[in-house]
Amino acid sequence: MARKCAKVRGALLVNRANQNPHLNPLPRGEADAPAPGEGDFRHELLVNPRHVISAMPELAEVEWFRKQWDVARGAAIVDLSLHARNRVFRGSDVRDLRQRLIGANLLSSHARGKRMLFKFSGENWLGIHLGMTGKVRVESPDYRPHKHDHIVLFQPERALVFTDSRQFGRVRFHHGADEPNWWKSDAPEINSRAFDQRFVDQFLDRHRKAPIKAALLMQNGFPGIGNWMADEILWRAKILPSKRTGKLTSRERAALFRATKFVVQRSLETLGKDFSDPPRNWLIHQKWKRDGICPIHRKPLRHATVAGRTTAWCPRCQR
Ligand SMILES: [Zn+2]
Repeated sequence: MARKCAKVRGALLVNRANQNPHLNPLPRGEADAPAPGEGDFRHELLVNPRHVISAMPELAEVEWFRKQWDVARGAAIVDLSLHARNRVFRGSDVRDLRQRLIGANLLSSHARGKRMLFKFSGENWLGIHLGMTGKVRVESPDYRPHKHDHIVLFQPERALVFTDSRQFGRVRFHHGADEPNWWKSDAPEINSRAFDQRFVDQFLDRHRKAPIKAALLMQNGFPGIGNWMADEILWRAKILPSKRTGKLTSRERAALFRATKFVVQRSLETLGKDFSDPPRNWLIHQKWKRDGICPIHRKPLRHATVAGRTTAWCPRCQR
């Protein structure tokens, strides 16, 4: 039974990934420029000669991925397979990981921004950052790992797989009673009460010269926000993406805060819950189209590179 479920889930992921608007085909040559530290993914995931898919997981997608391993909670790891020399393991003691995780039970998982943390019995922790092309999924217990499956945790009923073709993701291991240091963060999660107007104002004050789009992409201020969510937030808040953060009025800051909370909440309720599309009247459904229009005015969207990323906005709504 568990085996069957696992296969269904895997198929669902592939199908949804091909349909979802935030993963929508982008005309060649308009692929995202690299964000700092994210590398160049202009040639990422060429699915056919004319289209490229921009598939970097943001907060809501990460939350969905996190839940894929929930089925494995309470069961022990009986074997594991990993590519020890792969750069996704940089900084981790892979021998230690192997020795300690075999026999350990998966206890719980948590997502924070673009990162995930899996807690195992025996004070063992596994952190996963999906990077650009990373994915976690469940396979049957007789699964044979493929080239890009950098770690596979086998349980009697299933196999937990982390795949990453471009290897910008990261797998970190920690043994200790407390959460690892690298999991700690100064920035509150956006869907928590600690993420309030005051926190946002203080953060924006520290980045007054940055375009607001760049500030939104900073993980120590807006954890989990990436390119598509930033554009959605700015469109909803009616702010031009290139506007300097220091030029925002208090009314615009309030609108930005409300839009951030709203976009995150609704994304978690759709994408984060079952990988379903965000509401039809969102910008994301138009953003990657060459002839995309504002969902409100039907006016053609404008596109430019802002903060190193392909950005779409409505010239009528956003000033
Ligand atoms: Zn508009």
